[in-house]
Amino acid sequence: DHRLSAAIGRIEPSPTLAITARAAAMKADGIDVISLSAGEPDFDTPDFVKQAAIAAIEAGQTKYTAVGGTPALKAAVVAKFARENRIDYSPPEVIVGVGGKQVLFNAILATVGPGDEVIVPAPYWVSYPDIVRFAGGSVVAVPAGREQGYKVTPEQIAAAITPATRWVIFNSPSNPTGAAYSGEELAALGAVLRDHPHVMAITDDMYEHIWYADTPFATLAEVCPDLKDRILTVNGCSKAYAMTGWRIGFAGGPRWLIAAMTKLQSQSTSNACSIAQAAALAALDGPKDFLAERNAAFRARRDLVVERLDAIDGLACPSPEGAFYVYPDASGLIGRATPEGVMLSNDADLAEYLLAEARVAVVPGAAFGLSPAFRVSYATSREILETACERIARACAKLG
Ligand code: PLP
Repeated sequence: DHRLSAAIGRIEPSPTLAITARAAAMKADGIDVISLSAGEPDFDTPDFVKQAAIAAIEAGQTKYTAVGGTPALKAAVVAKFARENRIDYSPPEVIVGVGGKQVLFNAILATVGPGDEVIVPAPYWVSYPDIVRFAGGSVVAVPAGREQGYKVTPEQIAAAITPATRWVIFNSPSNPTGAAYSGEELAALGAVLRDHPHVMAITDDMYEHIWYADTPFATLAEVCPDLKDRILTVNGCSKAYAMTGWRIGFAGGPRWLIAAMTKLQSQSTSNACSIAQAAALAALDGPKDFLAERNAAFRARRDLVVERLDAIDGLACPSPEGAFYVYPDASGLIGRATPEGVMLSNDADLAEYLLAEARVAVVPGAAFGLSPAFRVSYATSREILETACERIARACAKLG
């Protein structure tokens, strides 16, 4: 379409939309569909956070703020990185945006153009490749399958780096697999960057607080402080504080990059919502005890889902260390036939079959760049998860 820009032609609508829309349409037709495709906690925003927003409205904090965030919230972000991640940023090294998504968009648009490459380990969060392509850059996907715990190795990253590489994007714990890198694994990945001074790294730590491992969460700038000036540490309130609708994300990074991202934001959204910023301030500075309770619930659901799905003939479901997703490998189901005699030739076919036969909506691995697999979000009640797993098991048992 000649009315559209070249840039918009390079991206696709979120590939999860098709299946989510079909599930919604089936529900509207009165069919009892269980959707395991949500990317958000089912818990509510903590009450003290809501109260801070109400107080901000009543105090008249309803005007524009500084583009990169209120001084108070930037100070809280600086304190968060120091307290939780042992990274020493100053206020000019942090930015607050409209969700982690805008922060990532700012960073890529400010640094990537035609001829530039961005290394993205697969499976990846669906938006990374599209943001890179929108900027005009090329995506270099590096596959990390179940046999390697859905984690890339330093050797793979080293082999993918070229003179055109601008960024490597790490996401731990991962959407869609839940896999998380240990401090030692991150240090080994950082060592590769040390050999290639032109390469920078984004670490997307959005799921930091949805964490089950015995070892503490680690992030790249923490374990490789000498590389801090080449790392953008992205985080936000959406997942940790069940604040997806408030749209607050933030990042710490080198001053020149934060300044460029702030300049771009000044010409797009200006500041994040003033009221949401007040709520985020309360969340970052406030009590953290509810996180342990929620993690205990998430962890029990993970155990349930992993046990049920891994027991299904044809599926292999690793048990992840964080986030609220599992990513069963479905190699054993591809090539098999439905009761109607239709062959499942890929994971999109499998997701279609599960929707039609089990009435459970999952997202096919193709959306995340690593097949055959599918993503299950377990951010829903135990009862629903039990029913969904039972239905998936029954549908899989019917395959020839
Ligand atoms: N990064 C990852 C890995 C995500 O899964 C998400 C949300 O789904 C985001 C970033 C963006 O989060 P938000 O824009 O809600 O802060």
